[in-house]
Amino acid sequence: MSLPFKRIFVAGHNGMVGRAVVRLLESQFKGEILTRSRSELDLCSQAATHQFLADQKPDCVIFAAAKVGGIHANATYPAQFAYDNLAMAGNAIHGAFQSGVKRFLFLGSTCIYPRECPQPMLEESLLTSSLEQTNEAYALAKIMGLKLCQYYRQQYGVLFHSAMPTNLYGPGDNYHAENSHVIPGLVRRFHEAKISNSPSVTVWGSGKPRREFLHVDDLAAAIVHLITLDSPDDWVNVGTGTDLTIADLAKLVAKTVGYDGQIIQDATKPDGTPVKRTVIDRIQRSGWSPTIKLEEGLKTTYQDFLSQYEQSS
Ligand code: GDP
Repeated sequence: MSLPFKRIFVAGHNGMVGRAVVRLLESQFKGEILTRSRSELDLCSQAATHQFLADQKPDCVIFAAAKVGGIHANATYPAQFAYDNLAMAGNAIHGAFQSGVKRFLFLGSTCIYPRECPQPMLEESLLTSSLEQTNEAYALAKIMGLKLCQYYRQQYGVLFHSAMPTNLYGPGDNYHAENSHVIPGLVRRFHEAKISNSPSVTVWGSGKPRREFLHVDDLAAAIVHLITLDSPDDWVNVGTGTDLTIADLAKLVAKTVGYDGQIIQDATKPDGTPVKRTVIDRIQRSGWSPTIKLEEGLKTTYQDFLSQYEQSS
């Protein structure tokens, strides 16, 4: 792959997204990939971040760093979610501008769109109404990161822009049984039910909500595609544009894991929003489309789960 850069800094390379980006760059990028763990570089420190960028002089930054958490953590620690994400974005974007970074790709998530956003979600819905209360702090910080990129591009002419991925899954996920997103949570529960010969597995909610899932390796490919564009949109959705019900997802996970017991929906657990899906026309027009089918992606996710599970047990 001919990327027009010499040194790419992947901020947040230990996270699920950062790891996928590094995996892809390692297999295809001829230049240097810069990474720093949190103990080596505190992105919340303006001085340390600016110094690092000035010393290392990357010509491209892929910003996959974030303080993330589930609904409970977001609602309990809003100050930390807002401050850390805002500080990291501000420090990296301004530091990159000062040190002459040519290209900056900022990553957020589709939770930046309003709570009552018309479905499927269009980029134009940004800032049209109120955010979901439980993750407002995180979303506002990510919106500011996106807007900073837009403003720096507008005012200084630098190529800083953003990508907003939908619900992600794939290798490197958090497979906690309760405290995780639906795919890794179900992979663990179906696997444990299979090995203990349990007659049934409980899936939260009515099974009717519809969700879209993007494999993290597809996101990495989208990121690498976006950093080659001459005039990218200020921000684009990255998703598959297709969704399925949680009940159908549960059947697919059961099949992947090889569990043939009963699936029970627990309607006392919350469904969350009825539908969540992105419109991906913008990024598709620029020449990228997802390639990993959910059936196929779940297989590699299960393999990744098994390797983590075996290591930890
Ligand atoms: P959301 O897109 O923010 O709602 O993210 P989640 O991945 O947490 O949940 C998606 C949907 O899956 C919701 O309707 C949940 O009720 C449902 N669900 C079913 N079983 C599970 C589970 O084991 N874990 C999670 N997190 N969600 C589940």
